[in-house]
Amino acid sequence: MAVTEPAPAPHPAAYEGILRRQALRESAARTYARSLPIVPVRARGMTIEGADGRRYLDCLSGAGTLALGHNHPVVLEAIRKVIDSGAPLHVLDLATPVKDAFTTELFATLPGQLADDARIQFCGPAGTDAVEAAFKLVRAATGRSGLLAFTGAYHGMTAGALAASGGAPDVRVTRLPFPQDYRCPFGTGGEAGADIGARWTEHLLDDPKGGVPAPAGMIVEPVQGEGGVNPAPDGWLRRMREITRDRSIPLIADEVQTGVGRTGTFWAVEHSGVVPDVMVLSKAIGGSLPLAVIVYRPELDIWPPGAHAGTFRGNQLAMAAGCATLAYVRENRLAERAATLGARMLARLQALSADHPGIGDVRGRGLMMGIELVDPEAAPLTGTAGSGSAPPPDPALAAAVQQECLHRGLIVEIGGRHSAVVRLLPPLTLTDEQATAVVDRLADALRAAERSPYRRVPPGPTR
Ligand code: PMP
Repeated sequence: MAVTEPAPAPHPAAYEGILRRQALRESAARTYARSLPIVPVRARGMTIEGADGRRYLDCLSGAGTLALGHNHPVVLEAIRKVIDSGAPLHVLDLATPVKDAFTTELFATLPGQLADDARIQFCGPAGTDAVEAAFKLVRAATGRSGLLAFTGAYHGMTAGALAASGGAPDVRVTRLPFPQDYRCPFGTGGEAGADIGARWTEHLLDDPKGGVPAPAGMIVEPVQGEGGVNPAPDGWLRRMREITRDRSIPLIADEVQTGVGRTGTFWAVEHSGVVPDVMVLSKAIGGSLPLAVIVYRPELDIWPPGAHAGTFRGNQLAMAAGCATLAYVRENRLAERAATLGARMLARLQALSADHPGIGDVRGRGLMMGIELVDPEAAPLTGTAGSGSAPPPDPALAAAVQQECLHRGLIVEIGGRHSAVVRLLPPLTLTDEQATAVVDRLADALRAAERSPYRRVPPGPTR
């Protein structure tokens, strides 16, 4: 349907009925739908139009999937081209011209040493399946079974990925401290906090009585997304690269959310110059359709045929949409645009904290931004911030801000360990005017939420 067509005039009962039936029929585990009770019927770029005729600026972007926003013309054209060509839409993992073009385009974007002779495994279409594939790969390559992961990590919802995310106890996963400035577990923040974390990691790995099962790999997000938008300091990430290289432990970068320009470089590892052994890629690489892969060094490629199979690993439409997206981001230097615009938005958000005591911290990289909301009147949590103490997180305020944003036509996500971080993941194509509108609406929503009796049970964590 063309987006230029006038909005349909829906009867309110129609979309209210849809929402009511959803609540009745869909699982109790549904997430976004709980806090965002809208019925999208059209979308273009950053704008979603609901069945109620209202328009929203979308800063959720399919949980960071839509690098080019909704229904970008190059994406639609790529999809149409495949359909019009009569090519098969489903071919398991057989070779096709569409897949060949996608792989070539993807490899051209990879960090230097990986691009030269990387291998690629097409996985089941979700990020979590690619995480599982990465674990299998490094286990097969090293003959070891342990995994190193970080506090606050999010890698997906399947058992192995969930274990590494701390959601299910798994004795084979060792959890290491991820640097956090605002709530530094060591009470120092900054470089000092990151340094203690790195020393702890090193010490633990070398301690024969440290209790660490021999690690097959270390998995890290260059910027933790769901964990509350925590960028890994570049120096710390380089330390992790040295630590893993010195001990022959493959380093796995989970770039499912940070990839394709989001953080201001094409891949977020480029900020630090770190070249991982394995990269896990999904979300934006499919140009809004489901696609997930791992790319890795050829030496690791010793797992047997069929080691990671799956029916849906050949989605031609996703590969075509993804190829068009990767090329568009590269050709139009959208990573640089994300860096510039992100820095500008972050500065404006930081300036808001002067008038809003409920803003505890504003952080991010590129167009991956987070605002941690706190209760400034509650007793500070001592020893958890760079300055020695920080007010406790306020998930109810975050939920209220999300609702007030929605009333003002702005869709934001909530994340973070305590569901108290308002997250912004706008498309890389947003205009200066849209960026201004996002911050204005958010500031307005904050004012309203702070005034309102917002104390109520917040929705569960969103993914
Ligand atoms: N890794 C990271 C860093 C993610 O942010 C996510 C999803 N939010 C995943 C893995 C899992 O991806 P999916 O939801 O597609 O399984």
